[in-house]
Amino acid sequence: MDYKYDHILIRYGELSLKGKNRNTFIKQLHENIKKATKGFPTLEIERQHDRMYIYLHDEDANQVKDVIAKVFGISSFSFAIKTNSDMDEIIQACMQTLPLQEKKTFKVAARRSDKNFPIISDQINRMVATSILKNSEWKVDVHNPDVKIVIEVHADATYIMTDKYPGAGGYPVGVGGKAMVLLSGGIDSPVASYLMMKRGVRIECIHYASPPYTSENAKEKVMELARLVSGYQGDLLVHIVPFTNLQLAIYQNADESYAITLMRRMMMRIAAGLAQNRKALAICTGESVGQVASQTLESMVAINEVTNLPMIRPVVCMDKIEIIDLAKKIGTYETSILPYEDCCTIFTPKNPVTKPRVDKCKQYEARFDYEALVQECIENVQSIWVHPQKEEGDLF
Ligand code: ATP
Ligand code: MG
Repeated sequence: MDYKYDHILIRYGELSLKGKNRNTFIKQLHENIKKATKGFPTLEIERQHDRMYIYLHDEDANQVKDVIAKVFGISSFSFAIKTNSDMDEIIQACMQTLPLQEKKTFKVAARRSDKNFPIISDQINRMVATSILKNSEWKVDVHNPDVKIVIEVHADATYIMTDKYPGAGGYPVGVGGKAMVLLSGGIDSPVASYLMMKRGVRIECIHYASPPYTSENAKEKVMELARLVSGYQGDLLVHIVPFTNLQLAIYQNADESYAITLMRRMMMRIAAGLAQNRKALAICTGESVGQVASQTLESMVAINEVTNLPMIRPVVCMDKIEIIDLAKKIGTYETSILPYEDCCTIFTPKNPVTKPRVDKCKQYEARFDYEALVQECIENVQSIWVHPQKEEGDLF
């Protein structure tokens, strides 16, 4: 496909449902697209009420397409050619752009959003089709054409398109506040991150590392996952929590069967502290009911008990197969299945409690000064920016 497209036309999705907020959303989407495409210096974005147009100039349409496909708030987009709203120019643009030397079937679908344009849609269709039929071996097929030529006539310009690509859907990241996502090296939490961002919520990630029990490789893997996930919001701050001392203290003071539950409670306390520092309004995890012994409703009760912040679990009711499919689709699966340990797999007890009791958690926690250790974790966090295109960023 080497049509000489000079524009990408962007259609808004669920945005149109949100009446009053529409302007905020469009503004945010515009900003997000600007940010996502800043690696393409000659590109220009024009924002209109119901569409956005990207003028490609010297940029490669397919490279821009890959970036645009990840921006939430876009329902679909198309490569387009822009002409003046003049019938001769419209026909000429079609003739120059369509691959008329190949044998194809086609259909023309014109729409006048400018009702002052003197020619009605049907007539535009007929004029363009006649010209194509005269100058090529193309044949009309209104039901199942190889090429559907969409012509949108506006007052100031006309756009001609032949393809329509699905957008990422959802809402523009940033319109829904901010959440802290607990990002492990597994399959589920990158998917949870994706789903959270898709609702328009900007995320920062927290990873608990327990060196020397967890390796530098494990951390690098998480940073790579964060980088992959950052493609959906532009950039991403990752907080690496030095978790070893707290984890060791848990093992010294509690029954092994409660270790995972207590560890999760500590994770949430640290996450709540970081959320407060970073003005985030929720904590998000990749937990799924029933998936492993520690992910039961009883366990969630015990975990939620340490903070009032909303605990969002986007994959809570998904099957592992569904989560894996989504991980593959968003491009994190291959990295997730690399074999490095995270802090949970290293201390996995033989018989984790499936129905932990809050009073027992409190009993164990009373045996040591966990608050000081939690505080130490929050204070010694290492915060690193990651960007979709760049290597690991600067220290924050
Ligand atoms: P995942 O595939 O996301 O690792 P999992 O099925 O392995 O999930 P668990 O290991 O029980 O499940 O973890 C449940 C959730 O707790 C994770 O999805 C993640 O949100 C959080 N979590 C677990 N370990 C860590 C860690 N080391 N750092 C940050 N978050 C973690
Ligand atoms: Mg895990």
